[in-house]
Amino acid sequence: MSDNVIIACPHCGGLNRAPRARLGAGEAPDCGRCHAPLFDGRPTELSSADAFDRLVGKTEIPVVVDFWAGWCGPCRAMAPEFAAAARDLEPAVRLAKLDTEAAPEIAQRYNIRGIPTMILFGNGREIKRQSGAIGRSAIVAFARA
Ligand code: ZN
Repeated sequence: MSDNVIIACPHCGGLNRAPRARLGAGEAPDCGRCHAPLFDGRPTELSSADAFDRLVGKTEIPVVVDFWAGWCGPCRAMAPEFAAAARDLEPAVRLAKLDTEAAPEIAQRYNIRGIPTMILFGNGREIKRQSGAIGRSAIVAFARA
């Protein structure tokens, strides 16, 4: 395993090299390009295919993406649980939310049939998925397993 991991900035998309040991210690550097924190304890909002591909495809730590939509009641109910899980999991795991209305081609690419659906990605590839709204501790367990 390399001592460094590439992390795509959730704000500007810039690629950052971060020491794995610092992430393990719960520390994360600021983005070298836009100087915003690489992790701020909030899920990254993704509303385009480009933003999705940049974040999920260029991040070498695990990424959990919540596929959701504004009209979906269970998705809205799960949102605060997902946000709380982001505080628990960062910076070891990146949490992101994909708006399936804004980027339907991504939902189609992953054959999303019902929302909310969460997919755990490793180096841009799907590792596993779970459908239906779940609580904070179940989200954390899903991301770590
Ligand atoms: Zn940045």
